Amino acid sequence: MLKKINWPVAVGLTVIHVGALAAFWPGFFSWSGLVVAMLLSCATGGVGITVCYHRSLTHRGLKLVKPLEYATALLGTLAFQGGPISWVATHRAHHAAADREGDPHGMDRGFLWAHMLWMFARNSAVPNAEERRRLAPDLVSDGFYRFLDRFSIELQILLAVALFAAGGWSWFIWGIFVRLVVNYHGTWLVNSAAHAFGYRSYKTNDRSTNCWWVALITWGEGWHNNHHAFPFSARHGLRRIEIDWSWFLIKFLAFVRLASDIKVPTAEMRERLRLASVRATSSMGAGRSPNMRGTES
Ligand SMILES: [Zn+2]
Ligand SMILES: [Zn+2]
Repeated sequence: MLKKINWPVAVGLTVIHVGALAAFWPGFFSWSGLVVAMLLSCATGGVGITVCYHRSLTHRGLKLVKPLEYATALLGTLAFQGGPISWVATHRAHHAAADREGDPHGMDRGFLWAHMLWMFARNSAVPNAEERRRLAPDLVSDGFYRFLDRFSIELQILLAVALFAAGGWSWFIWGIFVRLVVNYHGTWLVNSAAHAFGYRSYKTNDRSTNCWWVALITWGEGWHNNHHAFPFSARHGLRRIEIDWSWFLIKFLAFVRLASDIKVPTAEMRERLRLASVRATSSMGAGRSPNMRGTES
C-alpha cells in the first residue's frame, strides 16, 4: 500500500505527532496553553475548515461576505491541511468518485488508508496542479487563494513564532502540535469513521454514514451520509437530534447578515433519497461494509 512514500508529508506529519508528545513533559503544560490550543482549534478547524473551506468554498452551500470569507479562509489555512485550492480540489475529487477508483482517500482501500495513509503515500488520486485548475477554477482565479496556497507553510511558521513570543514553550507546543494533531484526527475521522460506522439515512453511491461521535468532535461534519446525499447543503445535521454546531454558526452569520445564499435540501429532495429500512451491503461493494441502519426523521 505504501510502496512509494510521499516523504515531505510523511516527515512533516510524523514531526507534528512527535511534537505533540512533548505536551506530556511536565514543564510544557500550562492552563493558558490549553486554552490557546482550544480557541485556535475552534477557529482554525471549526470556522476555517468546516464553515469556510468545506461548506462555503468547496460546496458553495453559503456565501460569506468577502472580507469574512477571506479571513476564515486564512483560519482554514492555519489548520495546516493544505491551502484552500489544494484542499477544495482534493475534496471535490473525493465527492466525484467517493469510495471508488479516483477517490484520494476512498474507504474501498481500507480504514487506515481513508484515515491517514492516503497522505503518506505518493497518491495519484490527489489532484496535481493541472487537475487543481480543472477542479477548483473558482479559487485558482482568485489571487488571495493562490497566495494562501503558496505560503501555507510560512503562515504556520509565523503563527508558531507569534505563539512562542507571546507564551513560551507551552503556547508553542499546545497551540501548534497538540492542536494540529487533535484537529487532524477529527478531520480524518470524517473520511474514515464517517465512511464506516453509524447509520445511513439517504441513498448515496458510496459508504458514507452518519456518525454521532464524529459529528460531536468535528462541528457537525460527522453527519456525512446526509452530506454525501446533499453536498450543496450548508446544513449537515438534518434531523433535530443531529446536532450540527456549524449550522448554528451559519444561521447566526445569516442573522447578522454576514452570510447569504444558504442552501438546504427541500422536503421532496430528502424524500426522494430517503432510506426507509436498509441493511444493504451488496450495493456498497464487498467487505468492510458499514453497519447500516435506515432511519426516519
Ligand atoms: Zn466523504
Ligand atoms: Zn464535502
